[in-house]
Amino acid sequence: MGQPGCPVCRLIRVEVRRFLDGLLYESSVDPASQHKFRASRGICNVHSQLLRETRGYSVPIATLYEAAIDELMQMTREGCKGFSLRKRGDGRQLSERLKPKRRCPCCVVTEEAEKLFAETFAEGLADPGFLQAFKNSQGLCLLHFRRLLEQNMPQQSAAQLLETQREIWGRLLVELDLFMARSGERGDGQPVGEEGTSWTRAVDTLGGLPGIFGNDYEA
Ligand SMILES: [Zn+2]
Ligand SMILES: [Zn+2]
Repeated sequence: MGQPGCPVCRLIRVEVRRFLDGLLYESSVDPASQHKFRASRGICNVHSQLLRETRGYSVPIATLYEAAIDELMQMTREGCKGFSLRKRGDGRQLSERLKPKRRCPCCVVTEEAEKLFAETFAEGLADPGFLQAFKNSQGLCLLHFRRLLEQNMPQQSAAQLLETQREIWGRLLVELDLFMARSGERGDGQPVGEEGTSWTRAVDTLGGLPGIFGNDYEA
């Protein structure tokens, strides 16, 4: 919780990266993972960025994408399962057929990890040390704050959750005010300190950390 951004978002990112490492590690020898990759047509736009950031896995990535693109080639071949592009409306039909048959695997991992972390976080709120760390943190992103509110927890924990998140938002509001007062044409010329990054923290607080909520994520 001492690190920047929503702690649940951060933990999810670690889980998704771990999943991708495993997928890439076994992809060239595991026909099942290639089969799934064909069905999901790769991974979603948001999680594709995590693949681009991996190092040393270019051949496994090529193996998986070769399978997925081969799948598309087969499906778009004239005459495949009686398909042709001769009639009006055939394009729409083909578009439907090309739609992924499985959800992005990283989005599925995200939802599973989120469920687990939200439960653990809710339990943690009863622990004074955990609560103090939460108070000192940058707080939860809006979506994960809402997930936490939906958890079954003692009334005391729910009250602490709400109070702490409001304190964190309150601190952020003060920093945003200070930042605006010191910046721009009407700035008072005072050097900008920690509040200089308050606007990016505000963006992350409402939207969550980048690369977390994929296109197939179901809130
Ligand atoms: Zn979050
Ligand atoms: Zn995804």
